[in-house]
Amino acid sequence: MDCLFCKIAAGENPVHKVWEDENVFAFLDINPSSPGHTMVIPKKHVSTMFELTREELGGVFDGVKKVMQKIKDSKLAPQGFNVGINHDSVAGQEVMHLHIHIIPRWENDGGSSVQSIIKHPPEESLESVLEKIV
Ligand code: AMP
Ligand code: ZN
Repeated sequence: MDCLFCKIAAGENPVHKVWEDENVFAFLDINPSSPGHTMVIPKKHVSTMFELTREELGGVFDGVKKVMQKIKDSKLAPQGFNVGINHDSVAGQEVMHLHIHIIPRWENDGGSSVQSIIKHPPEESLESVLEKIV
C-alpha cells in the first residue's frame, strides 16, 4: 500500500523519531503548531479509530500517554497539551492513516482550546439533539 505514514512507521521514510513500541510510532510533525508537536500513529494501517479493536486502541493511547509524559519531562517542559485527531476528511484529515496530534502548550503561547476549531452550535434543544443520538 502506498501510504506515507506506513512507510514512516516501517522506518523507510526519514523523520524525527520521538518514540516507538510494538504498537505505535511517534515523530515530530514536519509543520509544527508548537515546539514538540508530535504525531503518534498505529503501526497497523487504519484510517480511523472505527477500524481498531478495543485492545488495539488501548495500545495506541498507551503510546500517546507515554509520548506525552516523555515530552512533559523533557527540556521543553510544556505546561499542558492539546491532544486531537482530525477524524475523516471533513474534519481536516489529510493523511488517511490514523494519527493523534500531541501539541504542547505554555501559558501565553497565543493558542486556544479544542472547542475553538468550530462554532456551529445546534439551533434545536439539547434534548432534541440527544433524541437523534440515543
Ligand atoms: P492531518 O491534517 O491531521 O491529516 O495532519 C497531517 C499532518 O501530517 C500535518 O500536520 C503535516 O504537517 C504532517 N506531516 C505530513 N507529512 C509529514 C512528514 N513526512 N513528516 C512529518 N509530518 C508530516
Ligand atoms: Zn498507512
